[in-house]
Amino acid sequence: MFLKNGRAVITGSTSGIGLAIARALRSAGADVVLSGFGEPEAIAGLCDELGAVHVGGDLSTREGVEQLMAAAGDCDIVVNNAGMQHVASVEEFPPEKWDAIIALNLTAAFHTARLAVPYMKQAGWGRIINVASAHSLTASPFKSAYVSAKHGLDGLTKTLALELATFNITANCISPAYVWTPLVENQIPDTMVARGMTREQVINDVLLERQPTKKFVQPSDIGAMALFLCRDEAANVTGSNITVDGGWTAQ
Ligand code: NAD
Repeated sequence: MFLKNGRAVITGSTSGIGLAIARALRSAGADVVLSGFGEPEAIAGLCDELGAVHVGGDLSTREGVEQLMAAAGDCDIVVNNAGMQHVASVEEFPPEKWDAIIALNLTAAFHTARLAVPYMKQAGWGRIINVASAHSLTASPFKSAYVSAKHGLDGLTKTLALELATFNITANCISPAYVWTPLVENQIPDTMVARGMTREQVINDVLLERQPTKKFVQPSDIGAMALFLCRDEAANVTGSNITVDGGWTAQ
């Protein structure tokens, strides 16, 4: 229960990786603030399970992030996890999708950090964990906005680490390769169209093609890594981009 008395806000924690991180931090005693979309009954169930509060709102807007951080209160741990994907060739990429992906996957992390850091400095301890991607270190075709946003998130993380190094506040990326979550499942139809493939071909020849283990990463693997980054033993892990990718970026 080493996070007892700690408060964590996790963006995009009604589903997938964010929910797994919320469960991991809660298991160590943190008070958890959930955010993200979903059915009200399902969200109420998660709040009961985790003893959590939920703050809704669209984090692709500055107002949405400001409302979340105001409602969340003083947070010792900020996990920037909410993200979205769109798969299309650059000439067919809808400009509004570009704007939304950059806003949610990158700009929201800037806003949470600028709003959380004053309290963390005052408290003399803080953890900023940014869920990036193997696509923060490498690229794939048809994902121009996502790859750009995730590379940007890596840069933001390094900058935060340097600015906050003497305040006992760390900032790191966790970079998964493919984790079986709704975000991955939902991009299969567009990828089938973009590449002219069947569903099975997309899973085996696109999603798992560059994943040497030929297995999807588990959301709980990312939760466990986030929990480690909150430990005092991780105080010198800062500015890192930690891959949990089955060897994807080793190639
Ligand atoms: P997911 O779709 O299961 O969950 C996304 C979460 O973000 C949900 O809680 C959703 O409600 C929330 N969300 C989406 N748009 C939002 C908005 N505009 N405002 C507020 N909340 C919003 O996705 P996931 O696979 O768990 O992905 C989580 C993060 O992990 C993302 O940043 C994603 O890029 C990253 N990631 C995922 C994978 C993967 O294979 N699943 C791989 C690498 C990185």
